[in-house]
Amino acid sequence: MSYIKEVQRLIDDGLNEEASVQLFQVLTNRFTFEMHRPETEDFRKGILECRKDQRKHFREIIDGECRKYPFPIQLNWRNVKFEPKRVKRCGICGGYFYDVSRNGNKITCFNNGICEHEHEIRRKRKGTLMEPAYKRRVDEIPIDFSPAEDDALGNAILTETEMTAWRNRETF
Ligand SMILES: [Zn+2]
Repeated sequence: MSYIKEVQRLIDDGLNEEASVQLFQVLTNRFTFEMHRPETEDFRKGILECRKDQRKHFREIIDGECRKYPFPIQLNWRNVKFEPKRVKRCGICGGYFYDVSRNGNKITCFNNGICEHEHEIRRKRKGTLMEPAYKRRVDEIPIDFSPAEDDALGNAILTETEMTAWRNRETF
């Protein structure tokens, strides 16, 4: 997959692909929190206005999120360029995500591929994307709600589960 320039820039600077993509999702989540989840157009406009009129605050948001994680390279507003126009709503969960694809055709968010997988399944079914003709329970992941501290996968799944639950609550 080829990425948009702001993501490619971080990869070129030495950050791995996954972290580069996730960082933009983390920032999108943060802006969702900041902007009280308006409709997509208003949301993009809100971020744009924030970048233009509250530059200091906008930069602090990016720097603050970058500081939260132990990235192997220096990240801040100078190299992390958040483009409001890339923000979209996921066709499956309805949550906001940052489309990092060069062609701008990404439909689903980046929650460990859960929505992408679901989208693939629904594409092959009758019915519309949002209202599939029948519902199957597929690939259920048993969730350990108290994974050990060193259980990276368990912790990642739990985090995603909480994020998905949060998104669903916020959206519907
Ligand atoms: Zn999604």
